[in-house]
Amino acid sequence: MNHTKGGYKVLFLSKSQDKRKKGVAIVTAQLLFHIDPNVDPTQEIKEFVNILIDKSELIVTAYGRTSGDEVAKLILKEGLDTEEVKSRILRYKSRKNLTDNKNSADLKSALSDYLSNYCYKSKTYDGLVDQIQFFPKIVYKNLGLGFAIDDENVIDIMETLTEEEKASLLQNVNARIAKKDREYRVGEELEKYLNDAGLKYGIDCTVDDFVCVNKNYFGIKVYIGERGILDWFDGTFEELKATLWNELKLEAENKVTCPFCGKKIVRYVAMHKLKNCDCGATIQIIDYSLTRGNIIHMKKDIAFMKLDGA
Ligand SMILES: [Zn+2]
Repeated sequence: MNHTKGGYKVLFLSKSQDKRKKGVAIVTAQLLFHIDPNVDPTQEIKEFVNILIDKSELIVTAYGRTSGDEVAKLILKEGLDTEEVKSRILRYKSRKNLTDNKNSADLKSALSDYLSNYCYKSKTYDGLVDQIQFFPKIVYKNLGLGFAIDDENVIDIMETLTEEEKASLLQNVNARIAKKDREYRVGEELEKYLNDAGLKYGIDCTVDDFVCVNKNYFGIKVYIGERGILDWFDGTFEELKATLWNELKLEAENKVTCPFCGKKIVRYVAMHKLKNCDCGATIQIIDYSLTRGNIIHMKKDIAFMKLDGA
């Protein structure tokens, strides 16, 4: 379907100038990368042209079949967005690195990690792949290893695995999902326990994050009233519950006293649940800032007020 115009074949490029420019850059990057996967993406236009010119092998691109020679002529006619070419080539390189490294344990572990974040358990490998279309557009980066996984390249990687690797990935992903489900349930159990305990004092508790490393080691992010506790806990689940219950008691002992009637109220309750003291005094929350060094801390305080004559 390519038609000849001005001596060279014209690809299916858009008439809109911006899209056209992008198209030329994409085709250029595809050809350069095909000719040499180690191509230096930071070269000048004329150096790219030198690489492409006289290469007559036809290559399938996103815009149709073309050769290096044709694209070189296209560049000379249309110009080239070298930044776009560079970013494309870098993307192809990182994708290639990823597939080249597919045997590395790190990549497999990252892959299981990424998939188990968004997948439901699946009986089959294809069942996992089918779920990718519903994944959020979130890039999983492994900074140490210099690669990133997203919903596009994960399909490329998954396709390159052998049957044996596929079976092992499926097993790992399902195991991780099962572990997350268990942790979720234990985290929920912990939250229910703290909620029930907090009810007595009017203090809300939430479990924001819960990781069960093993049965004697937990990672937690818990809010007891205003206080956030982010910590690793060395001990049994029962000991963890007891420790958090003590934290809750401490929070419950943090009280404010109404200056009008002397009533002691749990600070968290006065702050979040009450508008008035039993004696009729209004409870107001006052924002103030406190400067320590260069950092300004926003603080809240409680004031009991009574209108004269009330
Ligand atoms: Zn009072």
